[in-house]
Amino acid sequence: MKINNHRLLDDNNQPVPYRETPNKGGVMTPEYLVIHYTAGSSAEGSVAWMCNPAAKAAAHLVIGRDGNITQLAPFNRVTWHAGQSQWAGRSGLNQFSIGIELDNAGKLERTGSHWRSAISKRIYADDDVLLANHKHDRPGLPPIGWHEYSEVQLATAREVSQILMQKYALQDVLGHEDIAPGRKSDPGPAFPMASFRAHLMGRADDEVELYTTSAALNVRAGPGTEFAILPGSPLPIGVKVTLLEQQGLWWRVDVLDTVNGVMDLVGWCHSRFLTKA
Ligand SMILES: [Zn+2]
Repeated sequence: MKINNHRLLDDNNQPVPYRETPNKGGVMTPEYLVIHYTAGSSAEGSVAWMCNPAAKAAAHLVIGRDGNITQLAPFNRVTWHAGQSQWAGRSGLNQFSIGIELDNAGKLERTGSHWRSAISKRIYADDDVLLANHKHDRPGLPPIGWHEYSEVQLATAREVSQILMQKYALQDVLGHEDIAPGRKSDPGPAFPMASFRAHLMGRADDEVELYTTSAALNVRAGPGTEFAILPGSPLPIGVKVTLLEQQGLWWRVDVLDTVNGVMDLVGWCHSRFLTKA
């Protein structure tokens, strides 16, 4: 697959099926990738709904359970997939992100001996259901059913996401649940976000990443120059730090050495002056 003129092409250089949605805005420069589930019962049905003006919702891509992809808008146009949302100081992520919808029923309820979608009333086999809590559930809530994603669907999502991340130099891949916590639950616990993200970002989330400073570097209270410089700054060249968190080019780091008389310094710095140790 590749991208040409903001359209996705398949391995034969042919555009993937394209259905232009009316549920879109103007031109944008994407910075993030946002993953969703449709909460629908088929990719075809979800594509049709997202092309209906009444839906007032659409994403750039819909990936079916068979791995087939439909594109609904060019990647440099706003689509209405995120709604009220926030991330890294940004609000309204529609203006800054590409949305991928995965055909998946989402939350399922147990009725008698069956798992059922409360929305479509469709029944799902036990093998297709993961019993789990959502990461934003308050402690003590009983687990519920979540529709599993198919292997080929996840593999396709990984491949197209990698191409999008590279083509548009996207900063991160996020779940709708991450940018609209409490309001949204997709892509939910059945989506393997940790490994998906590690694959795209080229690292495992639980792996310790060691970096050294390549210039005198201020450590700040937050991810930006508007935040206060912390005592112990600037770090001299050659100081070792570990990466705790990323918000674009701003990284939250743990300084391993005692620097300028300060122990256990943790804060944000610009990643430009950090090199992998
Ligand atoms: Zn969503």
